[in-house]
Amino acid sequence: MSPPLLVSGGVAGSRCASCSYPAAPACPRCPACGGPSSETVFSPRGTVWASTLLHIGVAGRQPPFAFAYVDLDDGPRVLAPLEEARVADVGAPVVLIPSADHWCLAVLEENK
Ligand SMILES: [Zn+2]
Repeated sequence: MSPPLLVSGGVAGSRCASCSYPAAPACPRCPACGGPSSETVFSPRGTVWASTLLHIGVAGRQPPFAFAYVDLDDGPRVLAPLEEARVADVGAPVVLIPSADHWCLAVLEENK
């Protein structure tokens, strides 16, 4: 899975003109129905669908660190590293922010 791309105002993606299926990163063709998609920007806010704590080095990160699948409020489910090295509660509100590497970082709203 490619990491979501943050742009001014949110997460770069696309939405299908036929079935409204959201995708991030953007896809020229809908992954669900193959119809044409238009580029859009989704909110950087969402909720944790699932998360895990990794104890091995992956993607250049030093363990332990956590990844979360985040359901964007108005968009698709994306994968992002969590700011903290711990499992987050399912449904916890998060916001995606830029990070030093090419990934964006999911920050728990309770920490803001
Ligand atoms: Zn579609």
